[in-house]
Amino acid sequence: MCGTCGCSDGANIRLLTPEGAEPAQVSHHHGDHTHSHDDEGDRTVVLQEKVLARNDVLAQQNRDWLQARGVRAVNLMSSPGAGKTTLLERTATDLAGQLVISVIEGDQETALDADRMRRAGCRVVQVNTGTGCHLDAAMVSQALQSLDPPAGSVVVIENVGNLVCPALFDLGEAHRTVLASVAEGADKPVKYPHMFRTADLVLVSKTDLLPHLDFDLGRCTADIGRISPGAQVLPVSARTGDGCLKWYDWLLRP
Ligand code: MG
Repeated sequence: MCGTCGCSDGANIRLLTPEGAEPAQVSHHHGDHTHSHDDEGDRTVVLQEKVLARNDVLAQQNRDWLQARGVRAVNLMSSPGAGKTTLLERTATDLAGQLVISVIEGDQETALDADRMRRAGCRVVQVNTGTGCHLDAAMVSQALQSLDPPAGSVVVIENVGNLVCPALFDLGEAHRTVLASVAEGADKPVKYPHMFRTADLVLVSKTDLLPHLDFDLGRCTADIGRISPGAQVLPVSARTGDGCLKWYDWLLRP
């Protein structure tokens, strides 16, 4: 899956702590990929089972750590631009005083989203993955140490915008939530089934745009139901607030 993205280049991964401390190097356990190189230097990467096995061990450690603290983690995934940060900003603002939300922001570069979430009142760690296309359990482990989330709180892990690679990596989360914006088209669940198959909750976002689009919400919902029969589907608009109460109920439930 990561054949050309360069995500094994762990040297470029940086983590910006909530205190704005110097970026720390984060070890990246993606290097167990087997790489081969052709004459043009293009890489072919075979993702071996041991890569995910190594990640799974670390993810389980994260899960145990979170469980012992009484903290729930949500792995929030989508393509770039589906509205993850915008929904989180509204969520943090609307649930202020009801729920402590900490955020791990995954992006290749910049702390733009971390700054937004900090302004929304959240404690945030930004992980910059350099050329990497997803977060892994080792990055999340280090971010959790910096976040130090209190008991009874929720940690939202905003993964790198990508409907492919993040699906493979267990981070130790309790829930997997996928955003699919109506602007992307209704065919994303069938085109990227691996991402949707493991989701507990699918948020169909930007529904305020529906009047301007040919998006078939019924078809999209039916497709998600076939791909992931256990997944709940909630249409939401972070702009108007439509559907957000159901999302908050989901987030607030123990
Ligand atoms: Mg974002």
